[in-house]
Amino acid sequence: MMDCITEEAIEEVTVMKSVRTGGTQAVIDNAIGYFIHQDPGPILVVHPGKSEARDWSKDHFDNMVRDTPALSSRVSSEKIKDRRNEILRKQFPGGVMYVIGSNSAAGFRQKTIQRAFLDDIDAYDFSAGEEGDQIQLARNRTLSYTDFQRKIVKVSSPTIRGISKIEREYFKSDQRHYYVPCTRCAHFQTLIFSNDSQFAELASSFLRFDSENLSWVYYECENCHAKLDESHKLRMIRGGRWKKLKPEVTHHAGFHLSELISPFSNWLEIVKSFLAAKRNREELRVCVNQRFGETFVESKSYEIDEDSLLARREKYVNVPEGVLVLTAGVDVQPDRLEAIIYGWGVNHECWFIDRRIIIGSPERNTTWDELDEYLSNEWTHESGLILRPWAANGLNCVCVDSGFSAENVYRYVKRRQMKRYFAVKGDEGFKKPFIIDTKYDKKYRARFAVVAVDAIKTRIMDMLSADTKPGFGYIHYPERCNEEFFNQLTSEKRVIRKATSGHPKLVWELKDGFRNEVLDCTVYNFAAVALLNPSFEKLRSKWNDRVAAKEMSAQTQPHEQVSSDRAAPVAPPPARRRGRQHSGWNVKV
Ligand SMILES: [Zn+2]
Repeated sequence: MMDCITEEAIEEVTVMKSVRTGGTQAVIDNAIGYFIHQDPGPILVVHPGKSEARDWSKDHFDNMVRDTPALSSRVSSEKIKDRRNEILRKQFPGGVMYVIGSNSAAGFRQKTIQRAFLDDIDAYDFSAGEEGDQIQLARNRTLSYTDFQRKIVKVSSPTIRGISKIEREYFKSDQRHYYVPCTRCAHFQTLIFSNDSQFAELASSFLRFDSENLSWVYYECENCHAKLDESHKLRMIRGGRWKKLKPEVTHHAGFHLSELISPFSNWLEIVKSFLAAKRNREELRVCVNQRFGETFVESKSYEIDEDSLLARREKYVNVPEGVLVLTAGVDVQPDRLEAIIYGWGVNHECWFIDRRIIIGSPERNTTWDELDEYLSNEWTHESGLILRPWAANGLNCVCVDSGFSAENVYRYVKRRQMKRYFAVKGDEGFKKPFIIDTKYDKKYRARFAVVAVDAIKTRIMDMLSADTKPGFGYIHYPERCNEEFFNQLTSEKRVIRKATSGHPKLVWELKDGFRNEVLDCTVYNFAAVALLNPSFEKLRSKWNDRVAAKEMSAQTQPHEQVSSDRAAPVAPPPARRRGRQHSGWNVKV
């Protein structure tokens, strides 16, 4: 790989890799060190953000310079930041190195460079400011050099098929795979994890294991069917060689590296992490991207089978035992309000409690009065205790969509802010915390929450997927939820669409002919519990005390139904918590 980077005939190098491949981590560092020493010229180094750029410069580059006499005599240790504090700059005889974040339009402008190193490119923003694709910008900056002088090196683990920049670049390259010899028959083959791999056409064999019994893991030779286990791996890797799938591509070398051929990890560990990740689509994606170094195929990722949801319905009325706190989400339509109440327990296990459609225009006060009446209901818990709104375990946070009839929504929540009624605004973003921010709307003089709808929908679909089991990260539905309800709940699919800027991006899209109010109300419930952010363990222990007290009093005073329900609120009102970072919550399997 290093040979390709220093070879003049190769103008571009693309490395699509798993996160831990050992040795390749330093591929960019080593190449930069080599050029500063042997063939200096202007260098551009791009990292996803400013902070990564700074960290790399401080931790990796400075250490390399310090430990390498040939470099420490050449590179000035002084770091000069430009006025806008966006660029790090290092000078050396015959050249200069700029280290920038991928979102810095200024960093890509006004510079002539000979060699560009772009690290972790799948974590880049779609565009450097308004300037466009970073790889193209880097190419443009090198145009004053001849083919044999310039060099562009791109390294990253991939993300989603169709969005991944590193995969797009890899497919333009000569597409090299690492072929290793069988220790018995010496047949060369490339190792893939499973026949689901996008590179399955290159290999007829894959890693074998029994998910019920992990006492053995081996790779079956595709030629002689020998069982090659971990103890053969190092010999195979040492005897391996790169083979080009597209030898006709001459100026662009591309390498694919999976953890299967890393001397620094073992196959059993890879299998274990795959089995753990399999239960959750998002974790599976991370596993495929970061361990196998392959893109994740989105179309297969969130297909929730309605029948499986109908089949998993349970028998329960009112509020089941596990519920410790209630939330509500309200969707506003021109002719009605739709409200859904969910109950939440330890580890965010959650239960559908009730749904109410209130017919009437949001322009009319009576419609909101009716909602108020509904949300003031008391609920009977399976233990017999009564859940009252605004008591410790009652209905404690309500999120109302402000996308339609905003003025009326704000007027309604404003008078109930102390009860944690929020107007919510949806925003895009798959990697954001569920509550992006809580803000104050000056016009309506009311608080509102900015909610990462994409991230929440992804979590919901994860919790609905067939692989989940009751417990951690599970949503329960009672038998009274019908087909129409689940139709609405699964009314959106995650797809890749071209944004107006022309860049492909991931979106949740409504399926043709479907309604999605149930899904929206569910999203607002997830926002509500994220805003509330209760300590479920504490609630559980308080709850157990109350149940015990009730049983005691039932023995002594059989007529008193409930002990005091006016317990302290579960959390201070969010107004006092302004500025605090809402991390959302995270179900780890
Ligand atoms: Zn063999």
